[in-house]
Amino acid sequence: MRAVVLTADKTVEVVTVDDPVLSGPDGAIIKVEATAICGSDLHLYHGMLPSAGVQPGHEVVGTILEVGPDVRERAVGDRVLVSGVVACGHCGACRRGDPISCLVTGPIALGTTPALHGGQAELLAVPAVDLFTLVIPEGVSTENAVLLTDILPTGFLGAQMGNIQPGDSVAVFGMGPVGVMALASAKLYGPSQIFAVDVVPERLARAEAMGAIPINATDDLGALGVIEATKGRGVNVAIEAVGNQRTIQDALSCVAARGRVSMVGVNLEMDFPFPMALAFLKALSFRAAFAAIPSTWSNLLPLIAEGSLDLGDVFTHRMGLSEASKAYEMFDNKSDGMLKVLLDPSR
Ligand SMILES: [Zn+2]
Ligand SMILES: [Zn+2]
Repeated sequence: MRAVVLTADKTVEVVTVDDPVLSGPDGAIIKVEATAICGSDLHLYHGMLPSAGVQPGHEVVGTILEVGPDVRERAVGDRVLVSGVVACGHCGACRRGDPISCLVTGPIALGTTPALHGGQAELLAVPAVDLFTLVIPEGVSTENAVLLTDILPTGFLGAQMGNIQPGDSVAVFGMGPVGVMALASAKLYGPSQIFAVDVVPERLARAEAMGAIPINATDDLGALGVIEATKGRGVNVAIEAVGNQRTIQDALSCVAARGRVSMVGVNLEMDFPFPMALAFLKALSFRAAFAAIPSTWSNLLPLIAEGSLDLGDVFTHRMGLSEASKAYEMFDNKSDGMLKVLLDPSR
């Protein structure tokens, strides 16, 4: 089959590799119908983790071609979306849909190690398929199914961890795809105002179209912009959807006393300068996490089905898998207004 492979720093190639085999008796092989490139794939692309030889891709929708003998709730022919994060698949936490709390293997994102290939490919081996996939219900679009594999649960978690109360003011830092999901999710909680902070004009325009007040953070004016826009008060909740030191510190700086800062941007630094005096004197809450993806599906599916989650059209580009190298480069440079790209493995 053809698969995307990271071959060097900022280089991906589409190469022919062996077809995947079942990861175990509870696994399945999926023919990939659509897959996306995630902001966290760019961490691999930039060589922030050892990545040579990794086959990336953790946002996958497809049809089951083969199941192992222990699979009970999925069958050949089922059209499924796959959790971007998996784990042992046997323990209580995994059975509750919470791979993050798995004590056996811990959470593993598909396509981040050579031991667990990802789905930017024609075929994908999924472990513990009963737990880590969802049969796509009638009426859920392919695009929304792909969003449910990772970034919608992540953005939703950003809003949830902010503990937004009706009438609160909220600032979302970063209007990339996860920030857009966080903005859509935050609106569910009845805030009075949502500020959207970014530096890319198209992204700010998109946020404004979704009902947010855009704040252009050019010249490092992120936190200050929010503080000025709230006449010095600051916001009740800041959701951080970038993972940069600067935006995390802006989020911490722009909340009012007793503010809540919720971080879903990826930051893997072990030695982070945390403004402790601010946190202490303003009695802030700070939470950071990535999503227990399967556990969110029962909340998110009805919201998508009834139309109360307005996700807009985050997929600005559709390309063939064969164009993956160009797609990565465009996504990395945000060129041509690219917010998110859907890859079609048949092309
Ligand atoms: Zn992702
Ligand atoms: Zn487990």
